Amino acid sequence: MAEKRVFCEHCLDDVTYHVEEREFTRKLKGKNYTFKGREALCDNCNRPVFVEEIDNANRTALYASFKKENDIISIAEIKAILKKYNIGAKPLSELLGWGINTVPRYLKGDIPKADYSAKLRRIAAEPDYFLSLLKDASDILKPIAYEKSMRAAEEAIKAGGVDKESLAADYLLSKNNEITPLALQKLLYYVQGFFYAFTGEFMFESDCESWVHGPVYRDIYNKYQEFGRNPIVSEKSYDFSSYFTSQEMQLLDSIIKHLSVYNGKVLEKFTHEESPWLLARGDLREDEPSTNIIEKEMIADFFTKVKEKYNMLTVDDLSAYTKARFASLSF
Ligand SMILES: [Zn+2]
Repeated sequence: MAEKRVFCEHCLDDVTYHVEEREFTRKLKGKNYTFKGREALCDNCNRPVFVEEIDNANRTALYASFKKENDIISIAEIKAILKKYNIGAKPLSELLGWGINTVPRYLKGDIPKADYSAKLRRIAAEPDYFLSLLKDASDILKPIAYEKSMRAAEEAIKAGGVDKESLAADYLLSKNNEITPLALQKLLYYVQGFFYAFTGEFMFESDCESWVHGPVYRDIYNKYQEFGRNPIVSEKSYDFSSYFTSQEMQLLDSIIKHLSVYNGKVLEKFTHEESPWLLARGDLREDEPSTNIIEKEMIADFFTKVKEKYNMLTVDDLSAYTKARFASLSF
């Protein structure tokens, strides 16, 4: 830190600076929001100096605080809608009767108003509602875009509006009744990572976020939050083979066999030492809340290397990795 110099408006010189943590209160859309941020101070005069990366981090924290208080849909959730219904940001805006650049602006960080956010959330949760809007907009969208999105919406309805990660969670929980919410999140993350390593494809479309205690799929978190630190009780059991390919089932079984035997805290230690979570969090402190996305590319890259490092030939070869990871932990 001491190496880097920035311009101080008071000293009228390039100066070194130090960074302190403090609480900020800033106004956004007419309301005050308090958040924990950092401030760079000139080493000579101790007055604030502008450091772009710190300013950006503070802004992110401010928006996170705003969104949390207003429970506004996140960029990640909007991206998930586009994927789920195979539709672009502009066509989605049109279909909703909004200005064509509305959704693209949200993707760049503009914050949706509460009623716009609620509408997007409803679309995410109710594929049949989306389909009805789509049909009403058949003359607005280009025929190819319309057909593509129609097929995706029908698929989503067939899956009962259930995401693959929800199905995977149900499957894992049906096989092991000792899984806590903390452990479940890690298991899903390893499902995503190792499935990619063996197939070059992701099982889940959703992105996970780099929370303090590791990677988190937000919808799953919300669903099982009530169990706290206790094992999740789930009665759901159905014919999973109609939802998963045999390759997917094999991977899920391997995760149960090799990873669900560890408790949530141990799995948290695993993920905390691995690059996807670390990279997504950047230079955040260990206890600093974050909803940063763990980009799929990071997961792909990391697990591909793990597979190579441990010479895994089949999805059942996870034990070399899990045993090495467990042995390396310090308690
Ligand atoms: Zn100064």
